Amino acid sequence: MKKIILTGDRPTGRLHVGHYVGSLRRRVELQDSGEYDKIFIMIADAQALTDNADHPEKVRQNIMEVALDYLSAGLDPDKSTIFIQSMVSELTELTFYYSNLVTVSRLQRNPTVKAEIAMRNFEASIPVGFFTYPISQAADITAFKATTVPVGEDQMPMLEQCREIVHKFNSVYGEALVMPNILLPDNKACLRLPGIDGKAKMSKSLGNCIYLSDTEQDVKKKVMSMFTDPNHLRVEDPGRTEGNPVFIYLEAFSRPEHFAQFWPEYAGLDELKAHYERGGLGDVKVKKFLNKVLQAELAPIRARRKEWEQRLPEVYEILKKGSMEAQAIAAETLKDVKAAMKINYFDDEAILRM
Ligand code: ATP
Ligand code: MG
Repeated sequence: MKKIILTGDRPTGRLHVGHYVGSLRRRVELQDSGEYDKIFIMIADAQALTDNADHPEKVRQNIMEVALDYLSAGLDPDKSTIFIQSMVSELTELTFYYSNLVTVSRLQRNPTVKAEIAMRNFEASIPVGFFTYPISQAADITAFKATTVPVGEDQMPMLEQCREIVHKFNSVYGEALVMPNILLPDNKACLRLPGIDGKAKMSKSLGNCIYLSDTEQDVKKKVMSMFTDPNHLRVEDPGRTEGNPVFIYLEAFSRPEHFAQFWPEYAGLDELKAHYERGGLGDVKVKKFLNKVLQAELAPIRARRKEWEQRLPEVYEILKKGSMEAQAIAAETLKDVKAAMKINYFDDEAILRM
């Protein structure tokens, strides 16, 4: 069987370092590993509209921002097909048919949907489209016969729901859909990177992000203002590293060579943590180190972005070409789906034999 990747992001803002460690960095590695037959990267504008119906201009504006973030992070349009969700109308049609296979109560039990509804204070005013977005996500994944979906931990319930839809579809209509698998980051700190405010998830909607496209000064300012251990008041106090965002970011980003280069007093993260926990190590020093580590990772991304910003017509062509290619593939799957459901009336004349 072919190995196919599908993943993507909502164009609700520029991409942040949570996206980077949760999914984007991995995608680039997988892309360059040469182990996959096809890689589809989707800018999920239709999904973004489910909770931004009143702000179409925000979604539109961020299409280019996300595309620039992709290209600057190292996604290569010759190896990965980058496309825009709404340009593939087959996805909407698949969503409609899959809706019949999912109950309202099952959607209500989806933990991510629950958490996101609470976070957005939707209460009784949940848009139907938002409530059912896990179904449209199942359409996105299955349309490309994806075997592998590299995403952050918050997407686990989505993948679970998608797998249920595939199972149900295949058992009712016959094996037309491919069962996908989630691919989570190996590094625990990357599963769900917290915000700079210490909130459980860095998220565009919460405004607690370090963006890939932030300037050097922005990144520094944000790092220096980060939430740490609130009980670590004086330098000599023992500090907590567990649940401390500064240390979680170091887990996610720092490598032994960063210590050798920027802070040779410590052999590595374990030694640094031990010192902080014992007491005698101030937050400012640790933050300064984190800033250096982040700048080292982000500088090349920032530089590539500057270059791509000068080549917007090329970016436009990449998206257009990618969307056309994606559309052709989704159309094949839709054809298989309709054949399995026996709603392909004009593909043969069997309908005439009553
Ligand atoms: P929104 O607030 O609009 O939902 P978001 O910041 O949650 O935006 P998405 O576009 O929903 O971003 O998520 C895109 C991908 O990035 C998903 O695979 C998701 O799991 C991953 N991701 C998002 N935030 C984080 C995070 N803080 N840590 C790890 N992965 C993340
Ligand atoms: Mg999200």
